Amino acid sequence: MKTQTADVAVIGAGIVGIACACYLARSARAPRVVMIDPLAPMSLTSAASGENYRNWWPHPVMTAFTDYSTDLMERIARDSDNQIHMTRRGYALATRQVDPDGLLRQLRDGYGADGASRIRMHGKGTSAQYRPALSADWRTAPDGVDVIQDRATIDAHFPTFARDIATILHIRRAGDISGQQMGSLMLRDLRERGGRVVPGRVVEVACDKRFALTVRGQDEVVSVTADILVNAAGPYIGQVAGLLGESLPVSTVFQQKIAFEDVRAVIDRRMPFSIDLDAQTIDWTDQERALLADDPDTTWLTRPMPGGIHCRPEGGEQGRWIKLGWAFNTTPSEPSEDLPYLRTFPEIVLRGASRLNPGLKAYYDRLPSRLSHYGGYYTMTRENWPLIGPMKTPGAFVAGALSGFGTMAACATGALIATWVGGETPPDFALALSRARYTDEALMTALLESGNTGVL
Ligand SMILES: Cc1cc2nc3c(=O)[nH]c(=O)nc-3n(C[C@H](O)[C@H](O)[C@H](O)COP(=O)(O)OP(=O)(O)OC[C@H]3O[C@@H](n4cnc5c(N)ncnc54)[C@H](O)[C@@H]3O)c2cc1C
Repeated sequence: MKTQTADVAVIGAGIVGIACACYLARSARAPRVVMIDPLAPMSLTSAASGENYRNWWPHPVMTAFTDYSTDLMERIARDSDNQIHMTRRGYALATRQVDPDGLLRQLRDGYGADGASRIRMHGKGTSAQYRPALSADWRTAPDGVDVIQDRATIDAHFPTFARDIATILHIRRAGDISGQQMGSLMLRDLRERGGRVVPGRVVEVACDKRFALTVRGQDEVVSVTADILVNAAGPYIGQVAGLLGESLPVSTVFQQKIAFEDVRAVIDRRMPFSIDLDAQTIDWTDQERALLADDPDTTWLTRPMPGGIHCRPEGGEQGRWIKLGWAFNTTPSEPSEDLPYLRTFPEIVLRGASRLNPGLKAYYDRLPSRLSHYGGYYTMTRENWPLIGPMKTPGAFVAGALSGFGTMAACATGALIATWVGGETPPDFALALSRARYTDEALMTALLESGNTGVL
């Protein structure tokens, strides 16, 4: 068996593995990094990402983490003349609540000590103070959150929204990037620093003084030896942990999206990423409802569904495509190559999204033929916080459980892993993102009891 040697072996070449490899290769000791994956880089979960980013979270630790990642993404955007197509029109969270006290409390909690100062209220007749997201330029966009309750402002700047929307929380440090472009830039940087990709699946790990990984490729089996191992195997981090005799508190939940050409130009091309926060019962006709209710496999579609359905224009102001998503599935399933698509998902998500953007009703039962239905697994802990840091095995690290936020958090994850591996002091929030948080009973109880994990 051929043997390859490196200082660090990163298992997985999704956006998270690539970011870890890249930030490690850039770090002071400039270790020789090998990345191992049987698939083309960025072709599994990372290819299904909606590529949105936000600093809106129910807890300041997650806000600090994603703010840090956004700082790093902005640096990439600046250095690459925005080859990552970073935009920042924000997230518009829409609700029919006239007095959204609970939401405002969550906002203040999520933004931590200076939470209240980051929130600007726009009540009746105060529209002059609101800065709409006319430009997608991340460099000129405001920070903080605008809470808009003025009817005229909502009508003027969110013209496609349903008239019953009473409050919009416009999160300003949020938008989208091209995750694929960001991955290729980091991969290029890694290669320029001597990093390599070994094609194949890690099927066995022996650890004595060094790690010895058995990698099964298409034509041959090779051995890779390294001092440090980084488990960035996406939906398979649990399996890879198993190769080390460890287990991780994660599960995988399949989620889907659709994208289609908005041939009727229903959605305003300058609309921010928009989320209907309110629960709803899907808008079926009486006949459809009766048929669905009759079948035990579909009767759930007639019951109340959670909020969180989202829609955004894709491809900029000149583009025509839109993306819709709804992470309503909460049932874990083992990751499979054969993705368990729900055939009816396109119609379900369309009906759900039409509640906030009623113009979408024009597509009921006649979605355009140019439609892409795709999906992947959210790899999650119960509290929906990631696992970034040392594993139990000395020299092994995990970078995963990045759920529906791995694209936006990849840079911070890579930078944190480089810090952990280098033995440097990580930022304050880093410990709570590692396995160490499970020893903090008070934190874990608070997270699990909060009932809001920020899943989107
Ligand atoms: C529908 C959907 C929408 C999403 N939208 C967003 C969004 O808007 N914004 C956002 O930030 N995030 C979003 N996400 C989340 C984001 O896509 C993921 O968190 C991220 O892609 C995870 O990256 P990863 O590198 O950990 O995993 P992956 O991309 O899955 O990569 C893991 C790699 O590990 C390899 N691997 C596994 N086992 C082994 C082994 N034994 N040996 C070698 N290699 C192995 C796999 O082949 C794979 O290539 C979304 C996810 C989904 C599913």
